[in-house]
Amino acid sequence: MLARRRCPFCRSWFYPHPRLKDRQKTCGRSSCRREHKRLSNQSWRSQHPDYFQGTYPLQKEVYGTRADGKRRYRQQHPDYVQRNQVYVRNWRQQRRSKPLSPTSCDLHLKVGSTSTSIAIRQVSHTSRDIFVTLCPSTS
Ligand SMILES: [Zn+2]
Repeated sequence: MLARRRCPFCRSWFYPHPRLKDRQKTCGRSSCRREHKRLSNQSWRSQHPDYFQGTYPLQKEVYGTRADGKRRYRQQHPDYVQRNQVYVRNWRQQRRSKPLSPTSCDLHLKVGSTSTSIAIRQVSHTSRDIFVTLCPSTS
């Protein structure tokens, strides 16, 4: 086992992963990893001060952001917008009307010594809850 080391961020002891060895700098907790990444990004930016003054701001000025480009494309290509509308409508309808395995049993339960089968009749959801309608299976 490798020698244990101290995490420079939370000061707790840890054993480095055997495959990472000396390259592991933190204890592995996500908050420590994030802090380590933040510091390494900071040092990289200070070593390359003109990197983010490169082409992107210039391109953004000329062509706009990605959202602007998409909006412009949709304005210039009404046929694309219509095609996409039809596609999305079909896709939504298909998703809504697709039955959930209407023929087969979905759940096989064994309560005590009697085994029973339950079919899932319908599944719907809100942003918070999932509603599952069950019914006893005939098979
Ligand atoms: Zn840590």
